[in-house]
Amino acid sequence: MRIYVCGLTPSAQAHLGHARSFLFFDVLRRYLRHRGFRVTYVQNVTDIDDRSINAAKESGEDYHAIVDRYYAEFKDSMRKLGVLEYDAEPYATKFIEPIQAMIRQLIEEGHAYVSEDGIYYRVSTFANYGRLANRKVDELEAGARIEVGEHKEDPLDFALWKFAKPAEPRWAFDPYGEGRPGWHIECSAMAHVLLDPDGTGFDIHGGGADLIFPHHENEIAQSEPLMTRPPMANFWVHGGLLLFDNRKMAKSLGNFEPLSALLQRHDAQAIRWLFLQTGYRKVMNFTEESIAAAALGLGRVKAAYRLLARAQRGEAAGVLDLDDRMETALDDDMNTAAALAVLYDFVGNAARYADDPALAALAFRRLGYWLGVLGIAPKDDWLEEARVDFAPDFVERLRDALSEARVNRAPSVIEAATPREAIERIVGMRDDARRAKDWAASDRLRDALQRCGIEVKDSKEGTTWTVAG
Ligand SMILES: [Zn+2]
Repeated sequence: MRIYVCGLTPSAQAHLGHARSFLFFDVLRRYLRHRGFRVTYVQNVTDIDDRSINAAKESGEDYHAIVDRYYAEFKDSMRKLGVLEYDAEPYATKFIEPIQAMIRQLIEEGHAYVSEDGIYYRVSTFANYGRLANRKVDELEAGARIEVGEHKEDPLDFALWKFAKPAEPRWAFDPYGEGRPGWHIECSAMAHVLLDPDGTGFDIHGGGADLIFPHHENEIAQSEPLMTRPPMANFWVHGGLLLFDNRKMAKSLGNFEPLSALLQRHDAQAIRWLFLQTGYRKVMNFTEESIAAAALGLGRVKAAYRLLARAQRGEAAGVLDLDDRMETALDDDMNTAAALAVLYDFVGNAARYADDPALAALAFRRLGYWLGVLGIAPKDDWLEEARVDFAPDFVERLRDALSEARVNRAPSVIEAATPREAIERIVGMRDDARRAKDWAASDRLRDALQRCGIEVKDSKEGTTWTVAG
């Protein structure tokens, strides 16, 4: 399965909208692998672009330095979010030769022409233009215009090559003139070189929904006339827009927060969980409440998983229907929301799986991997308890609470104990009381723990405790 996804233009910091799109393709990739496909995943870097050139002009920095800095920050965020490494990460400026070869061929075949300020694609030569966006050419024509300084035959025509302006990065291109490539042709050339050298098409082309027109429409127009067997891609997959408090995120609206900053405030797994709750095509609204709710939901699922994993008894045997149910959900246009519902259902009915917790834990783990919420780190951090820093006087306070609850022997039991040991010993005392059916003593011990922020939970498997909240 050969996949090309339009990547980041690192002329500014990445935001959560980028994360949503790239996280979805990560989940798609994991799931296709689970389904037995060998996946080659290419995601490019648009490292030459008006915005990075302008940013460089303003700051006096080299545009490479700007691009490298923002891209390194983006990659760091992607790693934190558990996105698998890409098979190829082509930089547009490393593909100037194949880009020029394509432009040359398009000129020779009449699909492109040289004008005063650059080389343009002649849209009227491509009959299928507008097909992907499902719009008619005259409709598109109405929305297009020729900007000041652009010399093209038709408003819909677009630049393949921009002749160099003073103090801008440039590459030689004989006999036409030095300059730099347009954005659309970069993707066409990189996809061709890395995924489809025969010109017979590749499997999936992806990107955000905002790229359908004109970017992807233009990629098709450039690539297909030169192919031996179109179409360029068998499937086009577009991720929906992300809103912030019902608005688009923009610096001008004052609601822009870089992804790297957001990742310092929120658990990366919870962010994944939040996105998976909404189908990838849908417009999604992000709020602080929604991420808090996602963190809570994920916490419930993790707690159930820990309980099952701890309760393992011997070898896993038998078959659970979890796999099938998750596959049914994801086979239906990657319905991740329905897949999560299967997990929630599983947690809600955990008792059903009590006969074989080892198997349940195994199944659970696999499902988590498909979605990338589990296995986000090389080791399985779901099994780890959250690290808690107890207050220095925690044991003292617990002793006071026990005295007040008039549990006479208890204060001495936790003498010289660490907070964790103290809790374990009191929970052990409570187990003894329950076995002796001394419910009053059991309740007093539970109340004393609760007053110090420790919650106990009784189940068939035994008593567990957590730190409240
Ligand atoms: Zn692209």
